Amino acid sequence: MSIDTTKVTTPATFTELGLITPLLARLAELEYQQPTPIQAQAIPSVLAGRDLIAGANTGSGKTATFALPMLQHLSQQRRAGKSSGSKSSKGNFVTGLILVPTRELAKQVADSIKSYAVHFNGEIKTLAIFGGVSVNTQMLALRGGTDILVATPGRLLDLISSNAIKLDRVNTLVLDEADRMLSLGFTEELSALLALMPKKKQILLFSATFPEQVKALTEELLNNPIEIQLQSSDASTLVQRVFTVNKGEKTAVLAHLIKKNQWRQALIFVNAKHHCEHLAEKLAKRGITAAVFHGDKGQSERSRVLDGFKAGEIEVLIATDIAARGLDIEKLPVVINFNLPRSPSDYMHRIGRSGRAGEVGLAISLIDYEDYHHFKVIEKKNKIWLEREQVEGFEADEISDDSILAALLAESKPMAKPEGTGKKKRKKKTSANADIWSGYSKPE
Ligand code: AMP
Repeated sequence: MSIDTTKVTTPATFTELGLITPLLARLAELEYQQPTPIQAQAIPSVLAGRDLIAGANTGSGKTATFALPMLQHLSQQRRAGKSSGSKSSKGNFVTGLILVPTRELAKQVADSIKSYAVHFNGEIKTLAIFGGVSVNTQMLALRGGTDILVATPGRLLDLISSNAIKLDRVNTLVLDEADRMLSLGFTEELSALLALMPKKKQILLFSATFPEQVKALTEELLNNPIEIQLQSSDASTLVQRVFTVNKGEKTAVLAHLIKKNQWRQALIFVNAKHHCEHLAEKLAKRGITAAVFHGDKGQSERSRVLDGFKAGEIEVLIATDIAARGLDIEKLPVVINFNLPRSPSDYMHRIGRSGRAGEVGLAISLIDYEDYHHFKVIEKKNKIWLEREQVEGFEADEISDDSILAALLAESKPMAKPEGTGKKKRKKKTSANADIWSGYSKPE
């Protein structure tokens, strides 16, 4: 069943969604005035035990959509005395399992769940486990099991192999950022984990992007799921802009934009770990202090930087795509693509760090002639079209297929100038463009 959320006219209240008092009280304290569209559409079905595929924009309130029904079920099961979770069982069992792709997301989701659960007076145990930190501390924490476990797949498998946790009583499985969880790199780990869980369980899949092939795979796993696809117009509080710049001037333009706009904070994406440090050094020379965040940093450094950024102590953060997914940075004014992401879906994830939960947000992409074609692909895949703008004082040469060819020819001395008919020239363009991409650095 597919629900077209554009047709929803009156958003329900949280009470109308069927949530119980301890949750309603907490939502009032958090000043959540009304459910977001995904919450209004999904929570009643999830409470009724249905499987779910939700394609919702990042920042749309997905965490509460799965966390609130999970907490409600656990509390009701506990009251009915049939929980298989920590309190009523001696084994290291888990009842609700949430799989996420990154460490930071695991911590963030677990923190949100703990916050939603404060009025259950500690009766529901929630833990986050992820790599990069001591496994012993996590093993100790898992003793006696846990009700809700938020985990990255690799560390979870490690803990299972040391018998620290068992999945045979999982009754709810959430795949957050499901497209990533089901894509290459995680598929094997996910299959191994699924094999350890009971067949009968509620499965909830959330993701900002849902490529067709992933959808086909998820439909195999799910039992008669409710399908909700929020429209991208639901996230219209995010303004996207694209500035064309001359090659070699991106750093100057970036520094200019940061200084001129005096954003409270800015998150800048680059495509490789070493580019983070490199750009930070170049910005420092222009009087801008920036912190860096990437996968080569130790976990304590990653946490320190992210906490500092979330607390507003760090103003400029340069990151790779490990910061692109799910992270909730309150009122982040701007995300800047210094390098374009390789994949069009990562573009959506990156820009979704700003303009969350109905706040006003801004996403800027800086493109030079090398980015020109790739940005067109990103636009096409994401069904957006943005007017190319110029930054005053840094006006770029016009970018067109011809100017790209000219620039490539100027750069590549051994390449002979194309001669002959227009047809031949066009051929050259294609191969020259292909060369551009062979040197493009992939995100982590
Ligand atoms: P998420 O998409 O789950 O990462 O949520 C994004 C942000 O929206 C988080 O800061 C949540 O606390 C906030 N949020 C979630 N639901 C609501 C709501 N109904 N009203 C206001 N804020 C919300």
